[in-house]
Amino acid sequence: MPIPDIIIAVDGYSSTGKSTFARKIAAELSFLYLDSGALYRAVTLMAIEKGIISPSGEIDTKALDKALEDFDVRFEDTGDGSRTCIGPRCVESEIRTLAVSDKVSPISAVPQVRDFVDRKLREFGRRKRVVMDGRDIGTTVFPDAELKIFMTADPLVRARRRAEEMRGRGENVNLDDVLKNIQERDYIDSHRAASPLSKAEDAIVLDNSEMTIEEQMEWFRQLVSEKFPVKGS
Ligand code: C5P
Repeated sequence: MPIPDIIIAVDGYSSTGKSTFARKIAAELSFLYLDSGALYRAVTLMAIEKGIISPSGEIDTKALDKALEDFDVRFEDTGDGSRTCIGPRCVESEIRTLAVSDKVSPISAVPQVRDFVDRKLREFGRRKRVVMDGRDIGTTVFPDAELKIFMTADPLVRARRRAEEMRGRGENVNLDDVLKNIQERDYIDSHRAASPLSKAEDAIVLDNSEMTIEEQMEWFRQLVSEKFPVKGS
């Protein structure tokens, strides 16, 4: 699909399938895919393991600041995608557990954490031809992104999809807990002071409650052909 060298921001609510969609459009366009949530999740895993966030959710912000100074998080190319690593240790499945999902929104609300992740993302995104997914890519990280998509879906549909995905990874979860976690994350993400989740004015909404991934791809192809018409055709 012909497209200029641009940044594509895919933002939206938790478990709307942003990463599946963003990954697929990146593959189709031969763009680099960057999962900003994975960086927030990696910071959260580190904070849990170091006891910087207590089981009841209190955060030792001083210790967090210190730990971020030399926190070495990166994406490692796997050939057919990428995985998240902290130093030499790859943590792709650890960062997707409910234990991390439970603490990630309060950790991501800490301004120093947002600064840390924003710096990393801007570094990775210096080259164009990037698809980045998250909550504030189109509003804060890359407000000049040439194409912004905002994803949403019915919360119960999202919980069903997330529970299925977790069960597929062998995690024993129940639908109510997953739904509750999604609703809590929606609330915290939309109400925090530091770059809350909100749709950029120039973002195009994709509600995929009743769409398959192939239908979403068709929607995207149509959008690209309208926004970036091939000259002379
Ligand atoms: O996208 P994912 O669900 O993996 O993100 C995990 C969490 O990271 C979100 O619930 C949100 O709290 C936080 N996040 C964020 N800003 C982003 C990406 C993720 O605050 N750009």
